[in-house]
Amino acid sequence: MNDPYRFGGPVTAVCPGCNAVVVLPAEPLFEDTPPAICSTCETEVPDYRRPSFTMPDTLGAPTAEPTLPVEEPRPENQRVTRGGLFRSLTGLVADRGLSAIEQARERSGF
Ligand SMILES: [Zn+2]
Repeated sequence: MNDPYRFGGPVTAVCPGCNAVVVLPAEPLFEDTPPAICSTCETEVPDYRRPSFTMPDTLGAPTAEPTLPVEEPRPENQRVTRGGLFRSLTGLVADRGLSAIEQARERSGF
């Protein structure tokens, strides 16, 4: 009784269709032993004890990186919209233009 896979209880697998726990047929398994059918959604449940068993793609595929929660932009950063930024840049250019005009006026004696 040291084999953890032979605990005497029913052998179960998770249904790939609805994730319900399905009891697999008792061993020994033969080629013509009918596969376990999920009683909930009637999907054929793959039996890992069969030689033909292949790992489902979902288990073999690399798991997606856990996504870190995206830091919400803080309100002070959201206040500057593209239009607002353009307006402030326009104002800056206009201010510089005006001061340049004023300097030119001072130099020319107006
Ligand atoms: Zn199912």
